[in-house]
Amino acid sequence: MQDDVFGGRTAALAAEAVARCHALGRFSEIEDGVYRPFGRQSLEDAARLVERWMADAGLDVRRDAFGTVVGRRRGVGPGRRTLYVGSHLDTVPDGGLYDGALGVVLPIVLCKALAGRALPFDLCVLGFLAEEGCRFGAGCMSARSLTGRLDRALLERTAPDGTTLAEAVRFHGGQPERVGQAADFARALGYVEVHIEQASVLDRRRHSVGVVEGIVGQSRLSLTFTGQADHAGTTEMGDRRDALCAAADFVLAVEELAKADRELFATVGRLDVSPNANNVIPGAVSLSLDVRHPHDVAREVALSALAEAARAGGGRRGVSVGWRIDGQRAAATCDAGLTRLLVEAVRAAGVPEVRLPSRAGHDAMVMARVMPMAMLFVRSPGGLSHHPDERLDVADVAVAVDVMGRFFARLARQEAARVPGAPASPYEETRAP
Ligand SMILES: [Zn+2]
Repeated sequence: MQDDVFGGRTAALAAEAVARCHALGRFSEIEDGVYRPFGRQSLEDAARLVERWMADAGLDVRRDAFGTVVGRRRGVGPGRRTLYVGSHLDTVPDGGLYDGALGVVLPIVLCKALAGRALPFDLCVLGFLAEEGCRFGAGCMSARSLTGRLDRALLERTAPDGTTLAEAVRFHGGQPERVGQAADFARALGYVEVHIEQASVLDRRRHSVGVVEGIVGQSRLSLTFTGQADHAGTTEMGDRRDALCAAADFVLAVEELAKADRELFATVGRLDVSPNANNVIPGAVSLSLDVRHPHDVAREVALSALAEAARAGGGRRGVSVGWRIDGQRAAATCDAGLTRLLVEAVRAAGVPEVRLPSRAGHDAMVMARVMPMAMLFVRSPGGLSHHPDERLDVADVAVAVDVMGRFFARLARQEAARVPGAPASPYEETRAP
């Protein structure tokens, strides 16, 4: 059975995928850089172009209740299942050309290239429209709606210009009254997302692609340090209750703890000092804390240690500490079976096997709640993302094309063996697509 599915066409297919990312980049709310938020014309224009590409690739195209662009390529054989592939078309303000877009256009290009070949599974390409969550302040809303995990109260939420989420859903052809009703995934094989790495692990190691092991869990917190504001000239150094000094102790404790665990990432990104005057001892500080780890238990242990460090450090200075968890998401583990097929495909493509975690959130972590999930990262030259200078190398995309073709071939063999009566030689040339 043919394994090298796309043969000598990988470079051409990669070039087409990259050109399509550039074509989508024309749709933007801003001149320099890309900004396609949910509910705006730029994103709807991008979605309509993607619909045309899907139809051109022979997919049956529709929108789901949230406006997600859905294109299905039908396989052959009885009892066949569906492999979902996709990513998001929306971007952050001042974003790049490839974050999300690559994971939508690449499977469409591959579906087109598969014309005339039968697969013993359906391929369903998903173009999510609300992953970044900048305009409405909530991430992965399209995937949460599709999987029945979106709180319908969010539909009342408004963007800064007063548009409600329900109006934005309707604008993209969705049906607010059906938002949050889970689709039927009884026949789902799994979800695979191709995404740029958005970090420099692959670039530093000079590898084109990497297989994701899992998406890290994350906790977002707000802390307050409350001491006593007082005169900077008349208060004895030993008598002070300086909230900023206590907060500074804590910021360094966060760094020290994270540096002791290679997998722990912890950041204090925002600090508000009160009264923030040059001749007043800081009386209060509020700060943000972001903690990420691939293992939820390890993240919780780190949070306990940091809470203790904050309280103990504050206590030494007569500063009380408030601790509030604003949001948490559990780590998502990639499915062992799908990941094994991806790793085999990487090896068969003759490139080094690299396994790495994703420290950014993706639609894949939501899809993982209802079906097996796997991810393939493509190198981000320079590691820059969420920035207009985000880059992508066509040669790396060609490797991803090769890997995905070999992955499909392996999945085809697996599914053909599973379903009695399926075509004996899936992936062989057929007359009718
Ligand atoms: Zn993304």
